[in-house]
Amino acid sequence: MADCIFCRIVAGELKAHVVYEDESVLAFLDIHPASRGHVMVIPKAHAESLDRLDEPQIGGLFLGVKAVMGILEKALKPAGMNVGWNHGWAAGQRVDHLHVHLIPRYAGDGGGGIQSLIHSFVVEDLSSVAAQIKAAR
Ligand code: AMP
Ligand code: ZN
Repeated sequence: MADCIFCRIVAGELKAHVVYEDESVLAFLDIHPASRGHVMVIPKAHAESLDRLDEPQIGGLFLGVKAVMGILEKALKPAGMNVGWNHGWAAGQRVDHLHVHLIPRYAGDGGGGIQSLIHSFVVEDLSSVAAQIKAAR
């Protein structure tokens, strides 16, 4: 995709601090890091979201995520890590090329877990939520 900034990084047209690469993925530092060592792992193939990848590509992506997690743990010795991605505009996705954020966490950094993203939700009856989800399977 010529107009995709992450495809342009894969192609070497745009510079990035690449920290890992294999046949399936490229991993590079986020230009606006949320923490020291904030890395994004992306599939080399352009795909807006996970459901646009085939099974081998998904396998390659997550093996890449596992490899980079290990490298970050060895290199930076964080206390933990948040790993995940923003799926869709409403969830904060601003680059339409799937990217898994690896955000190392350090003692006393003041951050929370992934459940702390939303503050306005009022818990409703879980049975009806589960029934609605299961009905769509
Ligand atoms: P998201 O909001 O999940 O779509 O995240 C997109 C991320 O891409 C943001 O955290 C940006 O800081 C990061 N980003 C955008 N352009 C670049 C770039 N050229 N190099 C590295 N990171 C980038
Ligand atoms: Zn792309």
